This record gives sequence, C-alpha cells and structure tokens, in this order.
Amino acid sequence: MAKIIDGKKIARDILLDLKSKVDKCDKKPGLAVILASDDDSSKLYVESKEKKSLALGYKSCIYRFDKSITQGKLIQLIHELNADKGTNAILVQLPLYKHLDAQQILELIDPRKDVDGFHPINVGKVSCGLKPYAYCCTPKGIVKLLKAYNISLAGKNVVVIGRSNIVGKPVAMLLSNENATVTLAHSKTKNLKSITKEMDIIISATGQSKLIKADMVKKGAVVIDVGITRHYNGTLSGDVDFEKVKEVAGYITPVPGGVGPMTIASLMENTYELFLEQNK
Ligand code: NAD
Repeated sequence: MAKIIDGKKIARDILLDLKSKVDKCDKKPGLAVILASDDDSSKLYVESKEKKSLALGYKSCIYRFDKSITQGKLIQLIHELNADKGTNAILVQLPLYKHLDAQQILELIDPRKDVDGFHPINVGKVSCGLKPYAYCCTPKGIVKLLKAYNISLAGKNVVVIGRSNIVGKPVAMLLSNENATVTLAHSKTKNLKSITKEMDIIISATGQSKLIKADMVKKGAVVIDVGITRHYNGTLSGDVDFEKVKEVAGYITPVPGGVGPMTIASLMENTYELFLEQNK
C-alpha cells in the first residue's frame, strides 16, 4: 500500500513559515492578479489566491474584467503594474477571454515581477540551469513535495505525461536539472503503458480522468497526480485511478490535497521572494 503524500500539510508548513517572515517586514509584498475570463474554475482559483494572500498580510489586488476588456487596455494595465513600486508580483490567470492574446500579455510582464515564471526570460533561465526570478508554481511545488518525502531524483527514471508550458515542460526541465532522466510523453505518444511501467516516478498532468491505471505502474513507483477533473456533483478527481494505483505504488498524491495546495503555496512563496529581491 502506497504512502500518501500529504500536500496539504507540506503547503501549510510553507505558509506558516512565510507568515512569520512577512509579519517581521515593515512593508508588505504586493500581488496583482488579473482575471479576464468567465471560466468558473479560474474564478475559484483567483478567490483562493486572494484568500491566501490576505491571510499572509500581502497587499493583494484583483483586477476583474468582463468580456468588453480590450487587448490595449490590458497592455496598459500591465505597463502600469510594471512601473508600480507597490506591486512586486503580477499574475495573469489563464485562460483569458478568447479574443485576447495571452502570450503577448505574458511577454509584457516585467520578468522580475513574473510570479508564475511564464515569461520566456524565466523559462529560458531554467532551461539553461540558471535561477529564474520565479519558478513556475506547480513544477516548483512538485519538486518540493518529492524533497519533503526524501524521494531522491538523481539518476531516477521519470516520465512526465503532458507537455503544457505551465506544468509538463517546466517540470521536465526542473527534474532534468535535478539529474533525473526524464521522458516527456503527450497525447501522440505511442504505447504509454510500455513507458510508464519502467519508471521510478510518474508525473501525470493531462486532465484525463483515470488515465493512469494500476497495470501501468511499476511496484513501488512514485505517482504524482497533477490532473484535475471537476465532476457535475462538485467532486474532483485526478489523472490517476487512485484507489487501485495506491495498491501498487510506493508513494502517491491524492486529488484533492496533493499537488494543488503546493501550487498555491509556491505562488505565495514566489511573491515573497520577488518582494525581497526588489527591496534589496
Ligand atoms: P493542458 O490541458 O494544456 O494539456 C494537456 C496535456 O496532456 C497535453 O500536452 C496533451 O498532449 C497531454 N495529453 C492529453 N491526453 C493525453 C493522453 N491520453 N495521453 C498522454 N498525454 C495526454 O495541460 P495543463 O494546463 O498542464 O493541465 C493539465 C491538468 O493539470 C489539468 O487537469 C489541469 O486542471 C491540471 N492542473 C493542475 C494544477 C494543480 O495545481 N494541481 C495546476 C495546473 C494544471
């Protein structure tokens, strides 16, 4: 039976530590969040980010827009936030309304305030093995979870399933920087099971409910489930057939309560680190 990786607890410890550091600061970190979408999940994510940042004593400001927002107005706001000394971190909640060009907006954020680590300068730094201004939140959270459970990465065979710019690709880069041997699989990968079966660590970030079945997992492997599927009755499930896979795996993350809380803890930590860097 697998050991359950308790992301909630590790995230709580990170937030408690942050709170004690922030309490000692005269100035407080400033986080600006832009919500230009009517996506229900995005609204929930933004609310929970607001709640966490207020609990830490951050100066958090949410910019909510309806569908009439134009690309030009959003560009203007990014320029204003880049110039504002009280704003240390800028987050654009994705996806944006379809008429907006998200990539252009992300590239206009000052990389020193890019709290999500999505700017090409920050992505490029990580791919060069350098320290970015901020690491992407979910990948950073995953690496922290593995380290918190003393799961070594050097020389381990890892498959990352899903190659998005926000999870799959950056986590593959981070793990490679940690000396793991990384395979990056995706929807066009042939015979996924023949790959996953051989792996010491499986990280799945596809949004395909129960994609990872027990017969795809090597005995004792570490299984990290990033996927979130929202069901009509309000419950969540991940990419992994949790009940069956936990009988085979050595370690497993639950959904909810695994990677999700670590993503938000990393966001809060990134905000604090950007604040420190800008106030050196
Ligand atoms: P995405 O939705 O942009 O892309 C999905 C990826 O999965 C693609 O690269 C695709 O090739 C791959 N894929 C889809 N079906 C596949 C299959 N059958 N076999 C192999 N690969 C397949 O990815 P995303 O934005 O990274 O989101 C992925 C999931 O992770 C979603 O469920 C999302 O809600 C969740 N997510 C969770 C957190 C968290 O904090 N827990 C953070 C970000 C995203």
